[in-house]
Amino acid sequence: MKLDRAKGAPRTGAQHLAAQAYDWRMATPDPAPSDPRARENEAFWRNYLENYKRAQGMARPFLSRMPSNPRCLLCGSPFHGFGGGLMKMIGKAQSSVNPRMCNQCENVMLKHHGGAEVPCSMLFADVRGSTALAETMSAEEFRNRMDRFYAAASGAVFANNGVVDKFVGDEVVAVFAPMLGLDHPSRAVAAGLELLRATGHADPVGPWVPVGAGVHTGQVWFGVVGEGGHVELTVLGDPVNTTARLASQAGTGELVVSAAAATAAGLDTGLERRSLDLKGKAQATEVVTLRVDGA
Ligand SMILES: [Zn+2]
Repeated sequence: MKLDRAKGAPRTGAQHLAAQAYDWRMATPDPAPSDPRARENEAFWRNYLENYKRAQGMARPFLSRMPSNPRCLLCGSPFHGFGGGLMKMIGKAQSSVNPRMCNQCENVMLKHHGGAEVPCSMLFADVRGSTALAETMSAEEFRNRMDRFYAAASGAVFANNGVVDKFVGDEVVAVFAPMLGLDHPSRAVAAGLELLRATGHADPVGPWVPVGAGVHTGQVWFGVVGEGGHVELTVLGDPVNTTARLASQAGTGELVVSAAAATAAGLDTGLERRSLDLKGKAQATEVVTLRVDGA
């Protein structure tokens, strides 16, 4: 886990994603569209993302509520403790190469390099003023606080059938794909609200860590990047960058949801909409803002 943002210059999740996409494109020439392997993998990912085993998806909230972190970022299986024991019985264990994934999900990724464009919803959530927060405590206390934030965030994401794409500094990037249900916009919103509650934003004494978040939905490229044993699951595309910008505009305790995601999630049409000028966007983005503290 990287905690460099507290010490160094701030870098947004969108910048990290853009840098990653850039590195990947430099390192990997686009396969020729006629390459049968590329087409096969694209077909695999489309089928995987759009159909997947719904049964596994239904089991996921259960898996994610079982005790013991860490767990597989894709399927939510815990690696240790009671839950980990159950997982071993069905042949799942922590991968030795990608410690954040189980061996079964890792095999899927290694076998099918590539991905497909599908509609997904994204949730970005980050800790507000982490630099100031770090100054109020020891490095170890800060690390523990951030670990508690990561655990709360992954709990909220897994419980709503999402995938934790990555932890970048003090930011969590989660994806809700159609493979785990076509209601991905409402799952992303539910996860965002659950994260705000889990971090204490509904508590009278206030949050134990200040968080702001954003949700957006759109067509993104979802798949595997990287080479050899260093493969990583990721999402790329303009809606991902938009989500990062929405999150950066959210105040403490706010979940900023794009109008597109709000409509798709069936949120109350009576919610007040406002227009945000997001960096790099020619047109203003309509949003609604949700809170859990009744303010
Ligand atoms: Zn897994």
